[in-house]
Amino acid sequence: MPSHLFYLSGCDLRCAFCIAEASAFDPSRGRVLTSEFLTEAVAWGKTQGARNLQWVGGEPTIHLPSVLEAMSNCVGLPPIVWKSDFYGTPAAFELLSGLVDVYVADFKFGNDECANRIARVANYGAVVTRNLRIASEQSDLIVRHLILPGHFDCCFRPIVAWLQREMPRVKFSLRDGYQPRWQAGRHAELAAPLSRSEGEQARRLAAEAGLNVIA
Ligand code: SF4
Repeated sequence: MPSHLFYLSGCDLRCAFCIAEASAFDPSRGRVLTSEFLTEAVAWGKTQGARNLQWVGGEPTIHLPSVLEAMSNCVGLPPIVWKSDFYGTPAAFELLSGLVDVYVADFKFGNDECANRIARVANYGAVVTRNLRIASEQSDLIVRHLILPGHFDCCFRPIVAWLQREMPRVKFSLRDGYQPRWQAGRHAELAAPLSRSEGEQARRLAAEAGLNVIA
């Protein structure tokens, strides 16, 4: 479905392999978001065939007050897609409840040690799985995972096991195009692109687990 993407700068994570580092780590980049600008942009997007509006980043949740204000005064708002790292607070999801039609959640790491070492965040698993449960109660949910080289047993397997146990029918989007970017070279296993065999192995495991892999 044609989607109108709104990129917001700034992010609360610091993934060593970030591909958006130029804007993801500078929340002041870009122009100020206003309801007038959003209304004009939405109208233009519709003339281009956009059927929904997708907030992406960086991490859009860090700009939630501005986004909510702009949306509340925007004329002709289409269905909303919220693409997020899902490291936000329950209060953030409460504020988004009823406004988001589809959540696209990045489930990046299958254990806290990898999340801390690679993205510099604490308590990752508990926060993200809590938020996945909240979001699945609110609206349509797509869980995305970028397959990381060398993280099959520590990250991919636990994520597949959790989804199999907790939400086996959720749409699961597997991304196998990993390329080393930003500071990926600081981590030996992340210094090279994902091999074809690792991608195939991951897809095989997800299929064997009966997950609803959509791409
Ligand atoms: S969550 Fe996304 S934008 Fe933020 S640091 Fe990680 S890869 Fe970059």
